[in-house]
Amino acid sequence: MSAILYLTTVEFGPGVVSTLTDALAGLSVKRPLIVSDSGIAAAGLLGRVAALCPEGTVQFLDVPTNPTEAAVDAALAAYREGGCDGIVAVGGGSPIDLAKGVALLAAHDRPLERYAVILGGLPLIGPVAPLVAIPTTSGTGAEVGRAALLTLNDGRKLGFISPHLIPKRAICDPELTLGLPAWLTAATGLDAFSHCVETLLSPRYNPPAEAIALDGAGRIWRNLERAAQTGSDLGARTELMMGALEGGLTFQKGLGAVHALSHALGGLKAPSLHHGTLNAILLPPVLRFNAGHAGDKYERLKAAIGLSASADLAAEVAALNNRLGLPAGLKTLGVSTDVLPWVVERALADHSHPTNPRPATAEDYRALLDEVMV
Ligand SMILES: [Zn+2]
Repeated sequence: MSAILYLTTVEFGPGVVSTLTDALAGLSVKRPLIVSDSGIAAAGLLGRVAALCPEGTVQFLDVPTNPTEAAVDAALAAYREGGCDGIVAVGGGSPIDLAKGVALLAAHDRPLERYAVILGGLPLIGPVAPLVAIPTTSGTGAEVGRAALLTLNDGRKLGFISPHLIPKRAICDPELTLGLPAWLTAATGLDAFSHCVETLLSPRYNPPAEAIALDGAGRIWRNLERAAQTGSDLGARTELMMGALEGGLTFQKGLGAVHALSHALGGLKAPSLHHGTLNAILLPPVLRFNAGHAGDKYERLKAAIGLSASADLAAEVAALNNRLGLPAGLKTLGVSTDVLPWVVERALADHSHPTNPRPATAEDYRALLDEVMV
């Protein structure tokens, strides 16, 4: 059985951020809480968004790189104190995931842990506070995804998944990504690419999602280097944003070992690791691990991104990472060998683990991590 759902109303294209006022009115939101971070504010994007919101709008900018339960609590307090009735999330995956946590707890009793998918929380999640997502990176797809990744107070990074957590509106304006630094363009782009690849390889039956994943992978592959090198190239930025959106639309098919491991690594208290960078590092070894276990999908993917049938997909991705200046391994990022058993344990418990095309054991995960401990 496959449930196939596409639920978000998406405004897409240069300048569409101006539709925010109408989006809020359409959702009857009179006093939104803006969830964003100080980097977005410093880039001047927040002012542009805030000017489109009603008077009395409240802001919460204290979003950690990997959003935490404590930050959800702090933002929820701001939401309640401000008498808010909806949320506008502006930024990358972190503010959008945090906003999903706030939208959830604004309408549900604590504790947050109850609603984690791995603990059986999916059926407990009903309608949540209305959320408008405005991505400023082309990566996470969180603007149309049904999942939020939140780190609980005890350090577990858990997935919260429900159709109710899909933002009511996504406003995807590539102009908002024009100033994104090259490294962040590269890392978030590889995150989006890994979404397309992993959802394609997932064994669940969902041909529409596969078609979207192949289209997204092609757009990202053809435009990522151009967007990273020439930040002001609106054409490349637009294609990249569409690829990231398409990656998000395919999440419902399930991700795989890249994300099982990157979610686990992202749950480390220290070092604080960037999700997209982790996926870039993990994608080549996982592609080697899954080779021969995905039917004709490697061939379809190579055709979709413009590689010859004889090309080595894993080597091509590694070479792209290298050209983009992404780090080669986890050691460079400060990960030490003694945390790896914990990472393996968390990966086995991750919601992306069951949909890897080749079932991975603890030993497999350890071998994949050892491969990237450079
Ligand atoms: Zn991801």
